[in-house]
Amino acid sequence: MSCAEYSFHVPDLQELGGVLQKGLKANFADVQVSVVDCPDLTKEPFTFPVKGICGKTRIVEVGGVPYLLPLVNKEKVYDVNKIAKEVKLPGAFILGAGAGPFHILGFNSEFMPIILTESENNPPINGSYIARINPEDRGCLLEKYSDKYPGFGCALLANLFASEGKPGKVIEVKVRRRTGKLNFVTCLRQTIEEHYGEKPVGMGGTFVVQKGKVKTHIMPAEFSSCPLKSDEDVNQWLHFYEMTAPLVCLPVFVSRDPGFDLRLEHTHCFSHHGEGGHYHYDTTPDTVEYVGYFSPAELLYRIDQPKETHSIGRD
Ligand SMILES: [Zn+2]
Repeated sequence: MSCAEYSFHVPDLQELGGVLQKGLKANFADVQVSVVDCPDLTKEPFTFPVKGICGKTRIVEVGGVPYLLPLVNKEKVYDVNKIAKEVKLPGAFILGAGAGPFHILGFNSEFMPIILTESENNPPINGSYIARINPEDRGCLLEKYSDKYPGFGCALLANLFASEGKPGKVIEVKVRRRTGKLNFVTCLRQTIEEHYGEKPVGMGGTFVVQKGKVKTHIMPAEFSSCPLKSDEDVNQWLHFYEMTAPLVCLPVFVSRDPGFDLRLEHTHCFSHHGEGGHYHYDTTPDTVEYVGYFSPAELLYRIDQPKETHSIGRD
């Protein structure tokens, strides 16, 4: 399997905080960005298996939308423990957004990976969630992965943020009331892109939608049997929802693609009230509140990049 490595530009945290403070002001009424010690992420609402998102940070993009569309390629299955070894960080803590391991589950789903991968000293912990469409009422069915399913698989496409899972300094972003058109992640990404230009910066971490509602989607349990050839086809196939705060989101984004056919941003979310899926944007600009913790990635790894590509279905 192909695996390319690239070094991101890693900005000084104070400097990056200043850039975000300024840029987010154009899109949110209240903005407070600071460099803080990462809060203990084993606590509510995160309940991750590790305390932080620091140490040897990497962004890993595995596969891509071309393995899902226009028709699924069922050979494209992966193992997150193996991915951690591939990116030279066995024992990594990995979070992000991808497609659920249909080869294990028996159906397609949205995947919220939260995995402490295996290392010499420790067995792996799978704290992931999957979201699927409830066959009974077409609502969202969110499941804690390890309650029902074995293994550490994922499939087709994944945007991952890997680290040693250590405590450390991170960028805290608190915003309230959206005054602009951009979603939270796009606003962060474009602000960084405008400042750092040709130097690609990768970021990952977690944020909580504390108040308001969010537009999300969940892929159907069955892959489409007729080819999905346009964004319109894809939108007909997906199921869209409006989900309610608090939602814990797992963002992975890159300011600019240094030539690896990257998905620039991808965010999935879960909750403790049965909702989760792929985050698009909040639908309640007047009341929305976000608080997030982000860390820049040192390295990019591009695993199993599709040879034939297209730009459909990347929203
Ligand atoms: Zn997604």
